[in-house]
Amino acid sequence: MTEDPRRDELAGRLAAVDRRVADACAAAGRARADVHLIAVTKTFPADDVARLVSLGVADVAENRDQEAAAKVARSASLGVTGVRWHFVGQLQTNKARSVAAYADVVHSLDRVRLVAALERAAGEHGRVIDALVQVDLGDGRDRGRGGAAPSGVPEVAAALAECDHLRLAGVMAVAPLEGAPGPAFARLADVAAEIRGTYPDATVVSAGMSGDLEVAVAHGATHLRVGRALLGSRPALG
Ligand SMILES: *Cc1c(COP(=O)(O)O)cnc(C)c1O
Repeated sequence: MTEDPRRDELAGRLAAVDRRVADACAAAGRARADVHLIAVTKTFPADDVARLVSLGVADVAENRDQEAAAKVARSASLGVTGVRWHFVGQLQTNKARSVAAYADVVHSLDRVRLVAALERAAGEHGRVIDALVQVDLGDGRDRGRGGAAPSGVPEVAAALAECDHLRLAGVMAVAPLEGAPGPAFARLADVAAEIRGTYPDATVVSAGMSGDLEVAVAHGATHLRVGRALLGSRPALG
C-alpha cells in the first residue's frame, strides 16, 4: 500500500539516474564516489525537497533567488536539515545579499563585480560560501545564460582567490544550446585544468544535466545538476 505515490515516483527516478551515473562512471573508468549528484528542484515544491532528502539526496539546487529563498525557508519548516543549497542561476549584484543568506555553493560567478558583491554579502552574514566560476562555452551565442568567456575565467578566479568569505571551488558550465556537448565539455575540462594548475583546491567541475550527464562524466564532471530526470518535466517557462 502506497502512502505517498510521489515519493515512490521520486525514488524510482533517483534509482534510474543513479544507474545512469554509475554506468557513465564505469564507461569512463572513473570512481562513482568522485561524481556528485545535485537535484535541481526549481519549479517543484519544498515537499519534493523533503522527499528527496528522505531518499538520501544531500545537494539541492535552485536558479531563481525569490523561489529559492522561499523554498529554503519552507524546507526548514518541514523539518528538512542537512541540505547543501546550490544557487545555479544567473545572479544580479542586487540579489547577492539575499542569496548569501542561504546558499552554500554559488555556481554562477562570472564577473569581478559580482564576486565583490557576493563577498561583501557573505561577510555581512558571517558566512563562507563555495564559489564556482561559470564558463560560457557558447562563444557568446547563448545570451542570457551567463558565464565568463574562457579567456576571462582567470581574472574572475583571481578575484575569488582574494576573498575571505568566498572559497574558489572550481568551474561550472552549461552545454551550448546548439551543437554537441562533447567538444564543449572538453573545453571546460581544459579551463578547469588551467584553473587547478594555479589553485589546486579548485577541483569542482559542475557540468551535465538530465540530457547530457553521460557526456559530462566522460569529460571529468565532478558535480551533475539534474532536474527533469529526477523530478519530471517542468512547465515550459521553468
Ligand atoms: C534547470 C537547470 C539544470 C537542470 O536541467 P535539467 O535539464 O532539468 O536536468 C541544470 N543547470 C542549470 C543552471 C539549470 O538552470
